[in-house]
Amino acid sequence: MTRMLIIGPPGSGKGTQAERISERLGVVAISTGDIFRANVRGETPLGVEAKKYMDAGDFVPDSVTNKMVRDRLSEADVEDGFLLDGYPRTTAQVDYLDEILANGDQKLDVVLQLTADDEELVARLLGRAKETGRSDDNEGVIRHRLDLYHEQTEAVVAKYAERGILTQVDGIGGIDEVTDRVMQAIKEAQAA
Ligand code: AMP
Repeated sequence: MTRMLIIGPPGSGKGTQAERISERLGVVAISTGDIFRANVRGETPLGVEAKKYMDAGDFVPDSVTNKMVRDRLSEADVEDGFLLDGYPRTTAQVDYLDEILANGDQKLDVVLQLTADDEELVARLLGRAKETGRSDDNEGVIRHRLDLYHEQTEAVVAKYAERGILTQVDGIGGIDEVTDRVMQAIKEAQAA
């Protein structure tokens, strides 16, 4: 049983690594970005609301995001653990998640941060924009998303560091190489 978070700047490969961790640990991966994108594709009211923010590289408001996460974490498949990808991104979201977990008598085991240099990330994301046509992958929006990461999400990382459950992994390198580092780091964190 593992309950963990994966945090990383846009372009750090956290989605790819999250899928691999999920397979190897047998826990469900929940990506708030993926849930938003599925809603955008399905043109649901949630998707229509979220799209405005996503296209600008802004955070979707907590009033929308928090409730969505709470609902998702109340489903049966997370009883045996979960890996949250892309949430929390603000300290207010940390507080909200704390409350959800406390209500369920649960706690986080590991918070994994993937690290990477900004210029490397911009180059990667511009490459991805060509391949996937993601509407939030142009240079202005990319830089804005990185700025938000530094301004808001690094404070989230600091909170978990204070609690002693943060483990950092270098996200630069081949996908398999990074997965090896990630799995090793999780193993060490769980043994600690
Ligand atoms: P991601 O795929 O994790 O990079 O998320 C894509 C976009 O979805 C972000 O740029 C935000 O607009 C939105 N999003 C995802 N997770 C959150 C969150 N925890 N809080 C607010 N917005 C989010």
